[in-house]
Amino acid sequence: MKQMEEKILREGQVLPGDILKVGSFLNQNIDTEFLGQMAKEFARLFADDGINKVLTIEASGIAIAAAVGMEMGVPVLFAKKHRTSNVDGNTYSAVVHSFTHNEDYNVVVSSDYLTSADRVLLVDDFLANGQALNGLMELCRQAGAEVGGIAIAIEKCFSGAGDRLRAQGMHVESLALIESMTENEVIFRS
Ligand code: 5GP
Repeated sequence: MKQMEEKILREGQVLPGDILKVGSFLNQNIDTEFLGQMAKEFARLFADDGINKVLTIEASGIAIAAAVGMEMGVPVLFAKKHRTSNVDGNTYSAVVHSFTHNEDYNVVVSSDYLTSADRVLLVDDFLANGQALNGLMELCRQAGAEVGGIAIAIEKCFSGAGDRLRAQGMHVESLALIESMTENEVIFRS
């Protein structure tokens, strides 16, 4: 999506540790008109995948997931982050290693909201090493739900996780695919 690349070039900031900061339009201050365009693009890309639910992780995935769910006319579920593994029997949970905070946390959903009737679109703001997605896929596995696609705003291709998922046959779509980035330059996959 050309507009996403332009936004990153104009407003993004590369921080030490391979972190791209996009707080001005996606992660803190949300450009709602642009969010609407992103949602329309995801809805178009996954129109034929039989999606009946969107699943993301709190917090930064929620706005994108909500916009996509509204555009596709399906409910949106977000996994909660818990510091401990202290969860009851009515939940599915998985451990995720946080890219940005370098610590482990649990992602949890209620078994009331994710079931074997669901064909799920996983949504997140970034794809780096794929840990967050692995956690969401594990929740789907526990629930017997099918993963119908993966929608990512910004993929850091140099980690290889997105291509590994594509090689496994997963339908992965990212609105910007970053091949490399430094403080002075961001290069996209052409
Ligand atoms: P992964 O689990 O794929 O290694 O990392 C994805 C998660 O880490 C996303 O949910 C996102 O919140 C966070 N993340 C990874 N890379 C970046 C980045 O460059 N910038 C920001 N803002 N978040 C990132």
